[in-house]
Amino acid sequence: MEKTEKIWMDGEFVDWNDAKVHVLAHALNYGTGVFEGIRVYETSKGPSIFRLKEHVKRLMDGCKVMCFDLPYTFDEICDAIRKTVKVNKNVDYVKPCVFLCGEAVGLNPINVPVKFTITAVHLGSYLGKDAQEKGASLVTSTWFRPWNLAAPAGCKVNGIYVTSCLAKMEAKHRGADEAVMLNAQGNIAECSGENLFIFKRGKLYTSKTTDSILEGITRNSIMEVAADLGYEVVETEISRIDMYTADEVFMTGTAAEVTLVTNIDKRVIGDGKPGKVGKQLASAFADVVRGKEPKYEKWLDLI
Ligand code: PMP
Repeated sequence: MEKTEKIWMDGEFVDWNDAKVHVLAHALNYGTGVFEGIRVYETSKGPSIFRLKEHVKRLMDGCKVMCFDLPYTFDEICDAIRKTVKVNKNVDYVKPCVFLCGEAVGLNPINVPVKFTITAVHLGSYLGKDAQEKGASLVTSTWFRPWNLAAPAGCKVNGIYVTSCLAKMEAKHRGADEAVMLNAQGNIAECSGENLFIFKRGKLYTSKTTDSILEGITRNSIMEVAADLGYEVVETEISRIDMYTADEVFMTGTAAEVTLVTNIDKRVIGDGKPGKVGKQLASAFADVVRGKEPKYEKWLDLI
C-alpha cells in the first residue's frame, strides 16, 4: 500500500512515518480498538464520503459498547474525517481507529488512555479486478463467526477480526477469493469483511442482525435500493444449503462494494456467471455512490 501524506492523530496531522504507538499499547496486545472503513467516491460535484454519518455513528456505538471515553463529539469526528480526506491526494478509503494505548502490562482496560487516528489511503478494488468482473469464489470457513454471546459481533472491534483474518487466510490457502463464516447455529453469518445476500425464487434474502453479523452499511443501502427497484428483501436465517442452491449470491461491503459470487465450495452458483439481479444492484449501487441518483443524495457527504 502506498503511503499517503498525513495521518490524523489525536487532533493533529502527522507524517505517515511518525504515526507510531508504544509496543505495550493495550490494543496491540489485547485487540481493544474500534475502527471503521469508509469509501470516498468522485462525483460530478467533487469527492464525496459515502454515508459518513452512519459510519461515525457505528464507530461511536462501538466505543460505547467497549466503554471507551471518546473525547470528541459526533460533529468533530465527521469534520476530522473530511479534513483527512482533503489533505491527502488520490484517496478512496478512510480508516478511523479508536484504540487503547498506554505503556503498561495487564488486561484491565479501565483508565487506559484512548488514541484516535484517521488514515486515508488508496485502496482500489478490494477483492481484485477478476473477482469483481467475473465473479468471486467462496469457501465455507472452518472458523465460525464469533457470536453475540462471545464478543460484540455487531461492532467493528479490532480483536474480533482475528477470526476474519483466519477465515480469509483459509480462503486463500484453499484457492478462493473470500470465506463465508457460519454462526453458532450453523447458519450463514457473513464473509470475513462482507455481508452476504442470496437471490432465490424471486426474492432476496440476507442474514438477520441477530445472527452474529456486522450490520453493514452497504447491506442497508442495498436493501433500500433493491426495495426501490421492486425486490422483496427478507432478513432471515440462511442455511448452507440455501446458499449452495441459490440462483444468485453476492457480497456487500464498503471495501468490496457489491461483488457477485459464482462458486462456493466448488459448487457452481446459478449458471456460473455473474447473475442478472446482482449485476443490476451492483450497477445501481455504483451510480448511487457517485451521485448519479438524486434520490440517494442524502447518503453523500460532499467535501
Ligand atoms: N461484515 C464484516 C465482518 C465487515 O468487516 C464488514 C466491513 N465493514 C462488513 C460486514 C460490511 O459492512 P459495511 O457495508 O458497513 O462496510
